[in-house]
Amino acid sequence: MLHLHWAALTRLLVPACFVSGALMVREYLPALSENTQIVLAALPYLVAAICAVMAYQFRRVRLLLAALGVAALYWLIQNHLQVSLDHPDAARLYLVASLAVPLLCLYLLVLPERGMFNTWGLLACVFFLGSAGACFALADLILGASAGVSQAFAHRPVEGYILSIGASQLLALVAVAGIAALLLRNAEAEGPLLGVLAAGFASLAFLHLESISVVMGIAAGLCLVWGLLRSSYAMAYRDELTGLLGRRALNERLASLGKRYTIAMLDVDHFKRFNDKHGHDVGDEVLKLVASRVREVGNGGTAYRYGGEEFCIVFPRKSSEDCAAALDEVRERIADYKMSIRDRRSRPARSKDGARRRGATRIRSDQVSVTISAGVAAREEDGQDAESVILAADSKLYKAKRSGRNRVVF
Ligand code: GH3
Ligand code: MG
Ligand code: MG
Repeated sequence: MLHLHWAALTRLLVPACFVSGALMVREYLPALSENTQIVLAALPYLVAAICAVMAYQFRRVRLLLAALGVAALYWLIQNHLQVSLDHPDAARLYLVASLAVPLLCLYLLVLPERGMFNTWGLLACVFFLGSAGACFALADLILGASAGVSQAFAHRPVEGYILSIGASQLLALVAVAGIAALLLRNAEAEGPLLGVLAAGFASLAFLHLESISVVMGIAAGLCLVWGLLRSSYAMAYRDELTGLLGRRALNERLASLGKRYTIAMLDVDHFKRFNDKHGHDVGDEVLKLVASRVREVGNGGTAYRYGGEEFCIVFPRKSSEDCAAALDEVRERIADYKMSIRDRRSRPARSKDGARRRGATRIRSDQVSVTISAGVAAREEDGQDAESVILAADSKLYKAKRSGRNRVVF
């Protein structure tokens, strides 16, 4: 079943603030001194260079290519599009840019992140440059096409809006695809890339406004810097497999808790046996599923992966009674969930035999499920500092295990 990450939409707020803030700031630029304006005009390059260095450090090919694209668009606008678009060369370059912004953004949005210093990374870069080159050929095709097509891509369809209808529609489609990718994958790069798309759109659609490319170049670069900072935070604080916050984040949280809080320790039941039966990969999938249910705990709890198949939930300003219903719901939702798997061990080893059996039964799929046990302890009732509250929760967890598992002990 498709799981959409609706909460990921809040990540569009930051790029939206950068782009709308840039639009507002633009109005004040003419009041600045000439020297300040010269410095400002260099800022998009500087921000793009900072992004490129950071993206290189974090091995983020998509954001590195996006930074290069932002710098290239700014350079093109500054050096070739400061003349009237009635000039055929300028009109052609403008068309190239209005095709390149949506198409290259689309390419970066769908490209999976698989490292930089390997064949994949190299091919990703080559294909990006090739696609940029292809936009020139596409622009020439459009210019030589029938009147209807070239009319759809003619600039300034209405007064005060320069981007052609065709390119605007293309851009809107890419924006929808980007939002879909964000909802489906919930990865780090979609938000910043959608910010770059919006900034590219504003630079092209409102090209006639003074300093628009400067402020949008800076806004696009800031979206990428923000994306890179978020991804470095995630690398340090989030657990790779489940996406939950990890031990480092938990330790910092414990150090900053107030006087009243409750901590729950959760552990998957008989998980070693589960791994032995279904294999480690299926175990990993189940852990992800358990983590997604633990993450959705109500009552203001924050979930952490404590290690292995153990999770920890911190409820600030709550007593253990306050958390009972929320924790039992998590336990129940995990126990009730049946996951379909292709059980590798039940598949025949010989491929000929396998083909025959698969042919008869299609893919043999098994349903698996796991349960969790939890121990819950609260400050004041069970201990005076976070360490002793965790110890108390841990010993209650083992009480839950001893008394039959799939239960929450307070
Ligand atoms: P209990 O009900 O008493 O908790 O039994 P258990 O088998 O879950 O307990 P134990 O702590 O002995 O085993 C934990 C197992 O969890 C061992 C390991 O194979 C598995 N495990 C830990 N981390 C991971 C992981 O990241 N992926 C997978 N697939 N398995 C993991
Ligand atoms: Mg364990
Ligand atoms: Mg266990």
